[in-house]
Amino acid sequence: MATQKQLSKDETIIQVVSELNGPALIDDVIDEVLRRWPTRAKDPKGTMRSHIRRYMPAESLLVLDDALVAPTGLVMRGVCFRVVVTTAEAEGGYLNVGDSFHFFWRRKLAGKQISFKDAKGTQIAGTLQMESEQKQGPWGLYTNVLMTFRMGEWFKKEGIRTDDSILVTVEDWDAGIFRLEREAAEVTQRRQTEIVEADQRLLNWLYDRLENSGSEMILAEPAVLAAHVQNCSYPAYPGSHWLDAMRQDGRMDCWDQYTIRYADAPSPFDFLSDDEPDEIELPEEKPLASEITQKVFTFYAYFKHNKKLWRRIEIQGEHDLQDFDDILRDAFGHDSDHLSGFWQRIRRGKTNRYREVDLATTSSLAEYRENAWQQLGSLDLKVGDQLKYVYDFGDWIEHTLELESISDPQVDVEYPRIAERNKPSYRNCIECKAEGKTTRAVWYCVTCTDSSDVLLCNECAKEHDDHYLEEIVY
Ligand SMILES: [Zn+2]
Ligand SMILES: [Zn+2]
Repeated sequence: MATQKQLSKDETIIQVVSELNGPALIDDVIDEVLRRWPTRAKDPKGTMRSHIRRYMPAESLLVLDDALVAPTGLVMRGVCFRVVVTTAEAEGGYLNVGDSFHFFWRRKLAGKQISFKDAKGTQIAGTLQMESEQKQGPWGLYTNVLMTFRMGEWFKKEGIRTDDSILVTVEDWDAGIFRLEREAAEVTQRRQTEIVEADQRLLNWLYDRLENSGSEMILAEPAVLAAHVQNCSYPAYPGSHWLDAMRQDGRMDCWDQYTIRYADAPSPFDFLSDDEPDEIELPEEKPLASEITQKVFTFYAYFKHNKKLWRRIEIQGEHDLQDFDDILRDAFGHDSDHLSGFWQRIRRGKTNRYREVDLATTSSLAEYRENAWQQLGSLDLKVGDQLKYVYDFGDWIEHTLELESISDPQVDVEYPRIAERNKPSYRNCIECKAEGKTTRAVWYCVTCTDSSDVLLCNECAKEHDDHYLEEIVY
């Protein structure tokens, strides 16, 4: 009796998907995979769904949206993209396929397996060449392998010049066959509006995928390929190359060529070359509209881990984050001898997940400040937005600041101010209590506190003068 070789989970998924003749419901695929590859996992369907969505390489299948998967080779047929010819390429009669065909050129294909056809379907003569060049990167000199396809004759015949576009259509993704068509730079120029629209469609699709992912990044290859299948398949007119479009759009980047992340998330490049962290790149400092400088931003501020302790802070649009830090320290009784920082909490799409964007480091000492000059009015805050404020990066005392309203200032009020605070529930000095007196405690002795809190009034605190005391926040 012939024994069937036991397939692994991934092999089973690939087998099921390869039998499809078009996009299929991910739920149906999961059912079939589980039929062939039974598992005793707690939530087999859920586990399988997240495995397929997150870990299956684009080589075998693409997750097209929440509901659909498809075999990659099948849906990649007809995908179009644009390559703008550089001066070096025009003069040398070649295309830098290593860069511009990245992801579109199936990784499993052996080096030589790439071929091009012209608009009529005739094979374009040429050779693939690999050259090493020394390049200056953030970590010093490195060797870059340049993969070029030399097709000087076709370039000459088509009259290809700098800034012309080559419109590429995937004929056969599995075999690495592409169709090329020249578009003169003047034509591209005339069709700018369509290109801008196509770029927006592609980038919005990718951004949506990023916003809806569990982590704050997505794998670039499956996302870029699926984005093209959904937005740039024949007969769609191709927008800019996705890397150019992404650079112009500015919301995301793909600096490692492997993952797509929020552009305002920190990247390793932020920490290079200097001992001091670089300033976060911020939009140019623009003078604020006079209307917003006077507006009063009312924040409901509370300790993240003790919401009973809250303050209502009013601060104007013209005040900067250092002013905000000063009033918050005052409001919550923090010393001036530690650093503090602000983050903006940004809701990710329509999900209930937030990501945090670094705004500023604040300090009583100017030399430690970073971006503390940003004015409240310049942060583009809306009612309901949240900021995170941390006092002391060692003890990490975290506060949440909710923007309750933006209103006109009252006459004769000086801002910023603490407009309101929680009703204090005062506690008494334990040493006075032992003597039968009732005195309000002001200090908390960290040194003496063991199983019960050692709370002291000003007078009794004097006898703990070499102890570590903290002022009690009410
Ligand atoms: Zn006392
Ligand atoms: Zn003590």
